[in-house]
Amino acid sequence: MTTQAPLKASPLYFSPISPSHNVAPGKEGYGRYMLTIPWSRTSGWGQAKISPRADLSFDPLAGVLQYATTCFEGMKCYKDEAGDLRLFRPNLNFDRLKRSGARLGLPAEWDNAELLDLFSKLLYLETDLVPQADGQNLYIRPTLLETSESFGIKEDAFASEALLYVVTSVNLGAGLYASAEGKGLRLDACSEFIRAWPGGTGSYKLGANYGTVSVAKKPGFAMSLWLHGAEDFVSEAGAMNIWIIKEAKDGVLEFVTMSLDNGIVLPGVTRASIIQLLEDHASGKAEFPLPGMPKNIRVVQRDIPMAEIVEGTKDGSLKGMFGCGTGVVVVQVAEIQYKNELYQIPANPAIKLLRDTMTAVQRGAIAHEDWSYVIPAWEAGSAQEHDVDGQKVVA
Ligand SMILES: *Cc1c(COP(=O)(O)O)cnc(C)c1O
Repeated sequence: MTTQAPLKASPLYFSPISPSHNVAPGKEGYGRYMLTIPWSRTSGWGQAKISPRADLSFDPLAGVLQYATTCFEGMKCYKDEAGDLRLFRPNLNFDRLKRSGARLGLPAEWDNAELLDLFSKLLYLETDLVPQADGQNLYIRPTLLETSESFGIKEDAFASEALLYVVTSVNLGAGLYASAEGKGLRLDACSEFIRAWPGGTGSYKLGANYGTVSVAKKPGFAMSLWLHGAEDFVSEAGAMNIWIIKEAKDGVLEFVTMSLDNGIVLPGVTRASIIQLLEDHASGKAEFPLPGMPKNIRVVQRDIPMAEIVEGTKDGSLKGMFGCGTGVVVVQVAEIQYKNELYQIPANPAIKLLRDTMTAVQRGAIAHEDWSYVIPAWEAGSAQEHDVDGQKVVA
């Protein structure tokens, strides 16, 4: 039994883009580079490589193609006022990728610091591509998948070969938010297709969770609001965690989101960050970073049946609704179609306040704990990039 090599940031195989490199039509908004790290069950993690973004090739029976053994993360790189690049709580995404990988029998062990080092180098090379304007960013898509052949009955649950890769794209998700700005999203509550159920994979970021329900999308609606169970409990919308703002019987303004207990809901980094900001504010542990958040609030994590939302629009107890996630940050939900009725959801100023606070922390305009990570310069990489014409360099 050989020992499996751990994931290491160095030595890094760096293949700079040639100065005569032309971007393929339609791919102008993509980062020029990709990071790839192969893994095999016998030898562990192979050498990390940063090279020009290119197609991947696999055996036609690769697990990813046959059985959708693929999972991913969604992160963003921001450029602050000083021109530095920043990531928001990257270790939470890395930990979640480990969880998703383990769920699929893919490799799920590495040192986050090594991976962060590689991310930083990849992103530093794309510095010019990262927009600086508020609300803009370079979207990052880490992906982990099974490259080995997989068919019939496997001997055991684990993949024999896998690939972790990272590609980037300018401003993914910005269009969706812009279309909702001021008026909010229209959602179609869907009970025909079920996104997630107890014991399923809803709480993991697996490709299959998205591909199998994308047919539910209705024209005229931004995305589906996923429901589950006999009582049509709300789970999520698109790739966002969902919140309602509700006036409770005791007069407290409640921020209610689904609990993670039944394994149906994706444990969002944005969700967790909003919960912490609101709970610290409510308990007096830390003032909400921007002024204007009411003091008399409470965070509640529980199931929300559609009937409660419908009633809330009628008796006035529903004070707002929003989605949150890396893509949209925080976005108001304005309308829901449910059982052929259209329900209007009131706007709430707390939603914009949450959005402004999250974007300010993400861009480093407001410091909060260690939530924003500044990417160090990688002079060696950028110097080589300018000196070397298509030559391979091990850094
Ligand atoms: C990614 C995702 C979210 C949001 O998670 P963040 O970590 O906040 O980006 C929510 N729901 C689903 C289904 C997702 O895929």
